[in-house]
Amino acid sequence: MRHIERLPEPDILHEKHDEWQRKYEEKLQQHPSARPDHSKYAHPAIAGTLQCMSHGKCFYCETRLSGAYKEIDHHIEVSIDPSKAYDWTNLYLACDNCNNKLNHYTIPVSEALDPCRNSDEEIQQALTFDGEMIGSMPNSQLGLKTIQKYKLDTALLDLRRSRHLRFLCETVDKIKDSMLENGRRTATDEEKNQIRAFMQADRPYSLMCQIYINRHYAKLLAD
Ligand SMILES: [Zn+2]
Repeated sequence: MRHIERLPEPDILHEKHDEWQRKYEEKLQQHPSARPDHSKYAHPAIAGTLQCMSHGKCFYCETRLSGAYKEIDHHIEVSIDPSKAYDWTNLYLACDNCNNKLNHYTIPVSEALDPCRNSDEEIQQALTFDGEMIGSMPNSQLGLKTIQKYKLDTALLDLRRSRHLRFLCETVDKIKDSMLENGRRTATDEEKNQIRAFMQADRPYSLMCQIYINRHYAKLLAD
């Protein structure tokens, strides 16, 4: 998870919010379990702005959302607060793993990290990684509840993260091979930037890579 800066509300939502919300509340009076209209809150302009905010990644786990699977998530579930069905600040992007989060009654959002509210520093005080395995920082209830709520420790995410970590390691191995071949003791600036790029917010699993790189490749980057 990384901090996400919210962009301004898309025009379509600003213009249509009250009308869409009114229709939804009318529907709710007849069908108490009615859902808001997905085709409206997932309008391409809205989904596109959310993707720009997170560089096309899941807000919670940093999985790159490619292909068909892009879910717009109501951060506070509509069953808990129907007035937030079309509220811009309540719309997040989630992958298939994280959209399957634990409900409010099990763990309310207020007890977990919120990428739009918490800073990178606060996130790093709560979450850490050992290889591809996510864990909470010692004594961090916030980290523990975040992992539980968004199921950040599933086998599915471990697999996705381990593949990406392998890609990072292969990139570094190629750089080390090239150094050996050319009798160099240090990596070039370009090679260092290639490694540092894995830690940038627009790359998948950037927090995991940052922790891994600081732990294993700090010397390579410093020399
Ligand atoms: Zn996710």
